[in-house]
Amino acid sequence: MSSLVLVFAVLAILLAVALIPFNLRQRRIMRAAAAASASQLEHIYQLVERTGSIASNGYILARTNETNDNPGCLIPIPAGLPDFPWAGKTIEVTRTDDVAFRFVDAAPAQPSLSGKVCRPLQVPRHQTTGTGQGRNAFAPEKYLAASEELEAALKQVCPGHPKELLSYLLCAGGESGEFEPIDQARIGASAAWAQSPKHQDCDVCGKRMTLVLQLPGTTIDRKHFHSGMFYLFGCVRHPEQLKSVVQHT
Ligand SMILES: [Zn+2]
Repeated sequence: MSSLVLVFAVLAILLAVALIPFNLRQRRIMRAAAAASASQLEHIYQLVERTGSIASNGYILARTNETNDNPGCLIPIPAGLPDFPWAGKTIEVTRTDDVAFRFVDAAPAQPSLSGKVCRPLQVPRHQTTGTGQGRNAFAPEKYLAASEELEAALKQVCPGHPKELLSYLLCAGGESGEFEPIDQARIGASAAWAQSPKHQDCDVCGKRMTLVLQLPGTTIDRKHFHSGMFYLFGCVRHPEQLKSVVQHT
């Protein structure tokens, strides 16, 4: 019995020792992000946007250090988004027992997720060589590979972990420096599925619907929806046709 306890104790200590550097790194990244000035973050976000080579078709909601008193989620969709009939409208996300999306008349300057103000960042997009179609780039390492200036700007905020800092800044729903697409809040672009894709078709025309909004549950309510991912889809031909999907990680 006592040897078993000893084995467990040793295992627990080994696990703790393995986790300490990870937790320290995570805390360092979060502290660095919290200490960054608004102009430092804005410079980083502009450099990320500049890595795209063709017009963007959506946004990632990036972190800022601004907060407001709005307890819910209020997300104005940038007016300039092409072929996106919901551009210029504002979505309110309400939570009771469930999560509901609705369009409202409010027109806040910036999106806010549970009191945290976000900066809509244009998803860098590129032309593929084969088909000539556009493809979105979401991975922070791709942005870093495309811009030395970006790496320098990130190192100014967090010298040891530029890539992890960028992951953290672009994953509003996550609390680590790991890049997880399912921790991203997005407007348009393409869905990061928590499980197998559940594409939606319009009930009127039968065509594949477009992603309007993707929100990690943690950005809506950290306690109740921490494992959920919420999606809103709409038809570009029939913008009033909307469907929401929930997936759990
Ligand atoms: Zn339709």
